[in-house]
Amino acid sequence: MAMPAAGPDDVRERCADCGEETHHRVRVEIRTESEDPENAAFSREPYRVAVCTRCGHETATRMNNA
Ligand SMILES: [Zn+2]
Repeated sequence: MAMPAAGPDDVRERCADCGEETHHRVRVEIRTESEDPENAAFSREPYRVAVCTRCGHETATRMNNA
């Protein structure tokens, strides 16, 4: 298997709870913003979710802020 060596799902970021840089596991999640099922299909947004591996604090950032 020829996989890229880079591991983009493990990054160092500042954690608000820890108050310092810690390792975070990063994933992309599609979240539905609307609670109305009629509109749900049109309001699914990709979020970048970073979870602190030390305290478990989760930070979700909307990706398409354009
Ligand atoms: Zn933390």
